Amino acid sequence: MSVEPLGQLARTHTCGELNSSHVGQDVVILGWVHRVRDLGGVMFFDIRDRHGITQAVVRAAALEEKAKRLRPEYVVGIIGRVDARAADAINPKLKTGEIEVAAREIRLLNDAKTPPFPINEDTPVSEEMRLRYRYLDLRRPRLQQNMILRHKAAFAVRQYFDEQGFLEIETPILNKSTPEGARDYLVPSRVHPGEFYALPQSPQIFKQILMISGLDRYFQIAKCFRDEDLRADRQPEFTQVDLEISFATENLVFSILEPLMGRLMALVGREAPPFFRRMPYSEAIAKYGSDKPDLRAGMELRLLSEPFAASAFSVFRGAIEAGGEVRGFTVPGAARYSRKDLDNLIDEAKSLGAAGLVWARHAEGGVQSPALKAAGEDVIRRALTMAAAGPGDLLVMAAGTHAATTRMLGQLRLNIAKRENLLDPNRYEFLWVVDFPMFDWLPDEQRWEFMHHPFTAPLESDADRLESDPGSVRARAYDMVLNGSEIGGGSIRIHDQRIQRLVFKMLGMSDEEAKARFGFFVDALEFGTPPHGGIALGLDRICAILSGESSIREVIAFPKTAQAVDLMSGAPSPVDPRQLRELRVRTE
Ligand code: ASP
Repeated sequence: MSVEPLGQLARTHTCGELNSSHVGQDVVILGWVHRVRDLGGVMFFDIRDRHGITQAVVRAAALEEKAKRLRPEYVVGIIGRVDARAADAINPKLKTGEIEVAAREIRLLNDAKTPPFPINEDTPVSEEMRLRYRYLDLRRPRLQQNMILRHKAAFAVRQYFDEQGFLEIETPILNKSTPEGARDYLVPSRVHPGEFYALPQSPQIFKQILMISGLDRYFQIAKCFRDEDLRADRQPEFTQVDLEISFATENLVFSILEPLMGRLMALVGREAPPFFRRMPYSEAIAKYGSDKPDLRAGMELRLLSEPFAASAFSVFRGAIEAGGEVRGFTVPGAARYSRKDLDNLIDEAKSLGAAGLVWARHAEGGVQSPALKAAGEDVIRRALTMAAAGPGDLLVMAAGTHAATTRMLGQLRLNIAKRENLLDPNRYEFLWVVDFPMFDWLPDEQRWEFMHHPFTAPLESDADRLESDPGSVRARAYDMVLNGSEIGGGSIRIHDQRIQRLVFKMLGMSDEEAKARFGFFVDALEFGTPPHGGIALGLDRICAILSGESSIREVIAFPKTAQAVDLMSGAPSPVDPRQLRELRVRTE
């Protein structure tokens, strides 16, 4: 079919713009045929662009033949007059529902194959299909709204940091590797055979160097790359709102970030509190079994060792005697659970790694629990009281080491919260998790690893134990958490090169190794480094939360699969052997 040139035809209005105030005007709209209705003698076309949908109507007999050729996704120009719709034809669901454009001319700008899935319906389509035909998927209103919101978020970020005196400074993509705990993507150097650049896992070292250079307040909407085995919701490349502040304290960083979140939430008509709660890591673990607790769920974990310590219930008593603890939480209203529900709950706890799970509840004239006989009524009652479990509630308890018990119960708490619909999607619970441990012990490798990254400062009060008791040292690291997602993380940094060297040493890096990897940075630290700190927010995750999407892939225009494949372009792919020879790279 022959298509026509655009010529000098210019759009006068978008497809989301026209209303009754335009009635009588001559207009040109340009877009895609969204839907066709042929009523015989009169044809209706919904014309779509990213701004909306406008109904065009073709009554003129002269246009009929051309109009009959139009199919969904054809690209057209409609030239015509804005008419008011009859009262009974007004569509209140459409911004443009009060009017239609009576076509005088149709310009057929391009035809289209039948798309592999409908653009004009919100039918479920497999993600594989959507990613393969991402250009069509991105035509659908939901993704278009997500892209628009993401743009607005990035724009708000830039505006906010500009107001706060930050400079947006780009940092290199081709780098010397600056490890942040993940594997680097490497790029072979053609000019220096056998040598490699690394793609940045984050601009961490560069932003610290910008502080050494006196640039004072830096931010960047930065692409970061980490070659990890992808967990469900990770991408090999992702976007951070990255910032660094000279003379920073935790209070300063938080006071800059909290209003930013308010601005972002306002984009979707929501609010963020002016100040966020702060919770030490140890409390987050003890109460929620997670370093990114979802506070919407309630159901705090409570230490219940005391009533069981001297009881005859040997399973719990034994765990306490072995240095462990009994911990539990109350599920409101769950006393109604049937035997089968309770058995399922126990199986679920076991699949999460528990040796077992003990429940308890009030019952007519007493209490019920599988441990009732062994522990005695008084002990079970005390546990119920300590856990604030009233009639109608269910208490679940487990015993073991602090780490294992909190982890298991924390997961179980979340599973139950989801099942019981306790995670209100309209509630936003922000918090700062602070005072993370500085190091993590890796038993397999018999060494300490950093929890955040090797440039994080220890708490001043803990710094003298760096060598003698590294496991007890807390870091000046903080995470911003929203509804159980870590949406940002950062720290006050080490600005004293002596402490930096010591931390490298604690991480098992010899002086030579540290010099080879970070020599330039350690050197820079010696030239008058101001105290500084910063944070990076995950822009993808924040946009997903703002859009009400559960996967970050819904807010990334061209995401990769969990296998790190771009299904549309086919990356990664083999390359021309000539390219490899030039790079002196062999694939075998
Ligand atoms: N570079 C860190 C990260 O990517 C963030 C920070 O410490 O500012 O997690």
